[in-house]
Amino acid sequence: MSSDSLITKRLDGKVALITGGASGLGECTAKLFVKNGAKVLIADIQDELGRSICQELGTENISYVHCDVTCESDVENAVNLAVSKYGKLDIMFNNAGIPGDSEVRVTHAGTEDFKRVFDINVLGGFLGAKYAARVMVPAKKGCILFTASLASKISFGLPHAYKASKHAVAGLTKRLSVELGEHGIRVNCISPNGIVTPMFQKAIGNVDKKQGEEMIAVSAVLKGTVLEPEDFAHAALYLASDDAKFISGVKLPVDGAYSVSNQSWK
Ligand code: NAD
Repeated sequence: MSSDSLITKRLDGKVALITGGASGLGECTAKLFVKNGAKVLIADIQDELGRSICQELGTENISYVHCDVTCESDVENAVNLAVSKYGKLDIMFNNAGIPGDSEVRVTHAGTEDFKRVFDINVLGGFLGAKYAARVMVPAKKGCILFTASLASKISFGLPHAYKASKHAVAGLTKRLSVELGEHGIRVNCISPNGIVTPMFQKAIGNVDKKQGEEMIAVSAVLKGTVLEPEDFAHAALYLASDDAKFISGVKLPVDGAYSVSNQSWK
């Protein structure tokens, strides 16, 4: 085995299910996981995109299933499919998320948008964890990841529901890391900010130009670099790998020090 293959196969033999894997951060992570030796099932509602990723990679080690994370039977089916197709489930990555409607002030906000954001960002992750845990508890091992956000720490130009939902994701991570830790299951979340993806583009479409530029310019803190989806994917790779075998209950920021800087959104 070459030294290169030793370096790149950090998930050799592992099976991962990634929700929201048809686009953006989830897509990038799915590709990096496969490159690192994992078998990956992408679960998403964008069927065409999901299937095209599998075709693009052209390997049996990646497949797609339609799964609306707000639908309990879809999530259960996706977990069961990962196990029946690839034999087990080592990594459950609850990554699907939506930003919600940032135009609405609290005084005029209806409840539908709020509920929808919570259904996808929080309930969806809860269901993923629930059905993954049913497989992982008997196996006495496993890794559950969530995608939180810088919005789980500071307030900036995104809607109430989104911020509250990402705080909830961070809370769920903490709780589950304790509850499932006794079964050998690690639970962590990643907290990105300002990575250009379809969702991020939609979100910055709702802020003014200056705010949008600042949100992308994480280099205002960490000079000389701009966050890319790969930076997020590598954080996920680390947390999913055995290199992180004693890391649990953690929220890992991928934001170039933005969350600890003095900059904050009004
Ligand atoms: P994206 O829009 O490219 O990807 C989100 C994916 O989630 C899409 O493929 C979408 O189809 C899927 N999805 C939406 N609703 C779903 C549902 N009901 N069931 C299943 N899948 C569903 O956006 P992204 O930026 O890659 O976002 C991924 C995650 O990262 C989200 O949780 C988001 O909140 C979080 N995040 C992103 C950033 C960033 O800078 N891009 C920052 C903070 C947090």
